Amino acid sequence: MNIASAPPPFDLELRGIAKSFGDFVVLEQVDLSIDRGEFVAIMGPSGCGKTTLLRIVAGLEAMSSGQLLLRGQDISALPVHKRSTRLVWQNFALFPHLNVRQNIAFGLTLKRHDRAEVKAKVEQIAEMVQLGPFLDRRIGQLSGGQKQRVAIARALVTEPEILLLDEPLSALDAHLRIRMQSEMKRLQQRLGISFIYVTHNQSEAFSMADRVVVMNKGRVEQIGPPEEIYTRPQTHFVAEFVGSNNIFDGRVVAVERGLVAVECPQGVIHAAAGERPPGKGSTVSLVVQADKLRSRPTGVAGENGIRAVLSGREFTGSQVIYHLETPDGGEVKMVAQEPFSQTEGAGTSPEMLLYWSPADTVILRPNIVPGPENVPGGRSFVALGT
Ligand code: ATP
Repeated sequence: MNIASAPPPFDLELRGIAKSFGDFVVLEQVDLSIDRGEFVAIMGPSGCGKTTLLRIVAGLEAMSSGQLLLRGQDISALPVHKRSTRLVWQNFALFPHLNVRQNIAFGLTLKRHDRAEVKAKVEQIAEMVQLGPFLDRRIGQLSGGQKQRVAIARALVTEPEILLLDEPLSALDAHLRIRMQSEMKRLQQRLGISFIYVTHNQSEAFSMADRVVVMNKGRVEQIGPPEEIYTRPQTHFVAEFVGSNNIFDGRVVAVERGLVAVECPQGVIHAAAGERPPGKGSTVSLVVQADKLRSRPTGVAGENGIRAVLSGREFTGSQVIYHLETPDGGEVKMVAQEPFSQTEGAGTSPEMLLYWSPADTVILRPNIVPGPENVPGGRSFVALGT
């Protein structure tokens, strides 16, 4: 008899997790499934509930309602020491009076392992995170990056099924931070376990994660691969929070030949209609990434062109960010790899046209959500037809 095998359970499933401190609602109905060996970054503004969610998964905080499944098993009621999840803290939380070896071994010695076994495991993990030569050093004698690796090694030595990381790189300088990002990703791939990584930092989330979860005010706004979050924001919040997006609000005046025409204060803007275009008369928001704008025609059929005046520029090294003002007083950002005068010939003209393709225009439509939070009046926006 051929018995179909059950699909493997997710590594971790968060089902309807909610949390309130007294009357203050911190998390509302958070649902998230994490596959085996997946690197998931949770990103969102300060106070949106990222750390609380991680602490609930670790067992350090009780949820108000919901369910947590680890590889198919309900761990909602398990105390922290019985969960095979480990949390790496933002400030590393190392013991300054112990050396590196003793810090890494801490979790194992508490469980009364055999001394030789502890020694072997600590050395193996230390090797993995390149701390072999530093095992006998005191914590105060380490650099920021080395301390961060001790914190990770201390968590890994207990062989967790999932590693939880709460802004583990935030104490490091920008240069070291970037180096540690690639180390962290390589380590995760080598270990093959899931990482849940909380960060404020967009480039950190995008560079390491297989999927990014964007949170806002205790809710999940969007979950997806970094490229999708960046190029296809689904809500107004994500469009504003992520990347360098321009948002135009308007009303649909026509839907024809695969294009949606939207009358905005800046003029009529066209977007590709997608599978579920909004109807004529609908109120929508349009999102265009700043690096999709050009200062001369791109030649794409039906391309957009709006008038604007240059009001400022920021040189960031690899690119130039131009700030422009539209006739209605709105601001538009355009990102270019090189100055206009070198590439586009726009020079110092007081007024110019900005061009982009309808295919690079994401349509968001207002959506009434039950919560009071997203924008005044409880209106949020969700992506359409993409
Ligand atoms: P940050 O990025 O600044 O660390 P966060 O997204 O991780 O923020 P949390 O630390 O989860 O946010 O906090 C979410 C909200 O819950 C905040 O408004 C915070 O003040 C509140 N909060 C957290 N812990 C408690 C507590 N023990 N009692 C009351 N309120 C709390």
